[in-house]
Amino acid sequence: MAIEGASFKLFCGAVSHETNSFSPIPTSIENFKSNMMIYRGALGPSDTKDWPEPLQGFREEAAELGWTIDQGLCASATPSGPCNRADYEILRDTLIADLSAAMPVDAVALCLHGAMMAHGYPDCEGDIIAHVRRIVGPDIPIGVVLDPHAHLSATMVEQATLLIFFKEYPHTDVKASARAVVSLLARSLRGEVTPVASLYNPQMISMYFTDKPPMRDFVDAMIKAETRSEILSVSLVHGFPWGDTPDMGSRMLVYSDNDSEAGDALASRFGQQLYELRHETAYELPDAGEFVSTLNVGGGPIVLADAADNPGGGAPGDNTTLIHCLLKQGIENIVVAPFWDPCAVADAFAHGEGASVLFRVGGKVSAFSGLPIDREFEVVRLVERAEQVVENWHWPMGRTALLRSGGLEIVVTSERLQAINTDVFTCVGVDLEAKDVIVVKSAQHFVPAFEPIAREIHQLAAEDGLLRFGDANRYKNLIRPMWPFDTILLAGSLGDCQIQPQKKLNN
Ligand SMILES: [Zn+2]
Repeated sequence: MAIEGASFKLFCGAVSHETNSFSPIPTSIENFKSNMMIYRGALGPSDTKDWPEPLQGFREEAAELGWTIDQGLCASATPSGPCNRADYEILRDTLIADLSAAMPVDAVALCLHGAMMAHGYPDCEGDIIAHVRRIVGPDIPIGVVLDPHAHLSATMVEQATLLIFFKEYPHTDVKASARAVVSLLARSLRGEVTPVASLYNPQMISMYFTDKPPMRDFVDAMIKAETRSEILSVSLVHGFPWGDTPDMGSRMLVYSDNDSEAGDALASRFGQQLYELRHETAYELPDAGEFVSTLNVGGGPIVLADAADNPGGGAPGDNTTLIHCLLKQGIENIVVAPFWDPCAVADAFAHGEGASVLFRVGGKVSAFSGLPIDREFEVVRLVERAEQVVENWHWPMGRTALLRSGGLEIVVTSERLQAINTDVFTCVGVDLEAKDVIVVKSAQHFVPAFEPIAREIHQLAAEDGLLRFGDANRYKNLIRPMWPFDTILLAGSLGDCQIQPQKKLNN
């Protein structure tokens, strides 16, 4: 048993990608390099300013404990299709080489997304944690903080000491969750607690917005349950509906202090409650076309989220359907961002600010992109390296142009990203409060930043958007039955605290 107050060495690192199995956008190591690729030691042990938020949480908690920290690879890419196999292995092996070089360590804290897939690797997180376990051996605790839009595999649970998922969506508790990981690692190292996992599979999938009922109450109850002395952590793994893996689906994960009976009971209770809420939490977005036909503008900006084309879920971000619907309705004074169209950006930079020429905007990437917009646009503003900044995370927008055609303005970017902060508009000089309609490529994370300026906020789904929900025919590897794809569940399944058996994959 470790000595209380001893100074420990914590190794930390991150490999993060939310993989959409149906996305037409390939993922290679270049996507990580252009988004976030920080090599070992590059963040500096005493400078917290530029640490990505979860790593900041690790660092701050470690500093308060008087621990030293060894920072390994931190890599993250915008959500897209499965990662190139060789490139995934480079990322994993770089992290493992960093850990090997840092050994001996007393504990490991990782930030993994939880929904990363690569060609040949349906469970990247399980694979990474298993590799880490092989290096550190059975006794060194491994803690992981994850996004709840994840697939929880048996390997992840078996190989990690503890897994803590953000509770909030929008993810406003990233740093707090990361700190909780290190705090529990410390208590484990001091021999104060023994985390034991309890799982419950409610055999369902949805999108759970925790900023409103009924999920607000659900999360508050999870937080309250963590105050019980025998309960260390309570996580709802929301699941990521666009990952085609046998592990796809919602899960309850509870860590008790070596009290399986209490942990199982709590996981079951929350899991069954989640299932009972399924109709209230059902993810059914209004159709963009139908909604826009009833829209009354004037009196302040209405924010419309093009949720089925959210790059934050792996969609292209160049779907035009909502824009066409607004134009057809005669609605003007519209601005759209961030709109991914590297070709239009290149043309805008080639023409230069002030030029007015015929552009083809959007509708290019795939069948999920709608019809292109062919209009004369003025190149209003060009920014060489724009970025969106959220809690020290710098989201590169790349070369960015503001194009204007009559009352329509589109912020086209060379990098793909979702809207989270208003600077995706203001970086090219857009006056948001003067607009009637603001269209964001996002599903939920934009809400806190846009609420103060929005008269109304609506999340919509265009019929050809990649992230429309509920088509069970798209999956090859899903374990059924699962609500809402199936309405009849197996008798007795609700009392089962075991994770589903793994189905062998061919890819
Ligand atoms: Zn998420």
